[in-house]
Amino acid sequence: MSKECEVLIIGAGIGGLTLALSLHQAGISCRIHEAVPEIKPLGAGVNLLPHAVRVLDELGMQEALAEVAVTTRESIFFNRFGQFVFREPAGLEAGYGWPQFSIHRGDLQNCLLDAVAQRLGADAVQLDRRCIRVEQDEEGTTAYFETADGAELSVRSSIVIGCDGIHSAVRKQFYPDEGKPRYSGVNMWRGTTALKPFLSGASMVRAGWLSVGKMVIYPVRNNIDAEGNQLVNWVAEIESPQPADRDWNGRGRLEDFFPAFADWRFEWLDVAGMIEQTQTILEYPMVDQDPLPRWSFGRISLLGDAAHPMVPRGSNGAGQAILDCRCLADQLRQHGLTEKALLEYDRIRVKATGDVVLMNRIAPPDTILKEVHDRTRGKPFDRLDDVISQSELMDISNRYKQVAGVKVEDLQKL
Ligand SMILES: Cc1cc2nc3c(=O)[nH]c(=O)nc-3n(C[C@H](O)[C@H](O)[C@H](O)COP(=O)(O)OP(=O)(O)OC[C@H]3O[C@@H](n4cnc5c(N)ncnc54)[C@H](O)[C@@H]3O)c2cc1C
Repeated sequence: MSKECEVLIIGAGIGGLTLALSLHQAGISCRIHEAVPEIKPLGAGVNLLPHAVRVLDELGMQEALAEVAVTTRESIFFNRFGQFVFREPAGLEAGYGWPQFSIHRGDLQNCLLDAVAQRLGADAVQLDRRCIRVEQDEEGTTAYFETADGAELSVRSSIVIGCDGIHSAVRKQFYPDEGKPRYSGVNMWRGTTALKPFLSGASMVRAGWLSVGKMVIYPVRNNIDAEGNQLVNWVAEIESPQPADRDWNGRGRLEDFFPAFADWRFEWLDVAGMIEQTQTILEYPMVDQDPLPRWSFGRISLLGDAAHPMVPRGSNGAGQAILDCRCLADQLRQHGLTEKALLEYDRIRVKATGDVVLMNRIAPPDTILKEVHDRTRGKPFDRLDDVISQSELMDISNRYKQVAGVKVEDLQKL
């Protein structure tokens, strides 16, 4: 059987689409096979930090993303009583050479999908192809797929990259005994609401703490109507003994989490009102997996959530997938379509992303909120300086940036 392309990508999520653009730019032919029959703008907000935006800029995507995203200006922290704790500028305002974007996952996926169709052709993404297994031999790989009506087909290529997300079929093939994703003990309820701009109009807010209820709130679309409203993304996170179903589209119930936020009516935002106005609430458990020792086996490898699912506490899930793409495309360009290229990709990315997975568990940026919550025993404070100094808070934030590879001095345009 002749080969359909040099690299076959499994999954048209954020990682798979960015990889297609990266390989195309490197002069390597590729195709994506995606399980769903139709790509819909699912999910809620994601944040792209400057290290990921740099890669997307090199792929000629910055302008298109800036049109649909909110260019984040600041990251700001409050306790559960709405008292200010810490603020730091974000993206360009912090001196990075690239912005931070707060964006709806559906808008990000659509932008990437449009670019793939324009540059690689309309047939570059094949829908309704659920990968069930991948085999390899001396000459190449064969990936096997199932369609929604039960038909089976196979595709030959030189290399296969599993970009098939947290429930990756490709990963399971190499790690069959790994078990389900690891529950962090926290469930998340997410939604989007039309609101007038609050704070700077481009602020990423983190407030409260997980044991009593934590909120992450940021706008993801500007000017969505004639009143100048923004689409605001919010995520409520609460420690819960039982994990919710691992279904990205699973519906959540207001009564399961709202009581923790019912009195959150602050001068900077009526959080309770925002939740009450939301029409569709999604629920998902906060999960990850232990870092793997390797992703590459011969001519097959993994990328993004398939390789390193992480708890969403550092705005790095999509970002690290995007960084993988740049590295993998570089290695394939340098070493050709070889096992060596995949081993080099492993050498550079496996440990780097494993460190972020572990850091997201133990010391993500919201450790700032934990410190304040623990030191005040969950009570309001009179003077923040008596609780914690700004330099201590800054140290927590900087330690995370170091591990995640998003330090300002490393990310300036020459
Ligand atoms: C529907 C959905 C909604 C999400 N919502 C959010 C959100 O609101 N906030 C957030 O932070 N993160 C969300 N995520 C996760 C987020 O997109 C990822 O953490 C991150 O962007 C890394 O991207 P990825 O490409 O590795 O994985 P994903 O973006 O998860 O993409 C994986 C892709 O592979 C496809 N796929 C899965 N199995 C197969 C198979 N066997 N064969 C072929 N294709 C397959 C999936 O349909 C999907 O398109 C969501 C993911 C999905 C799939």
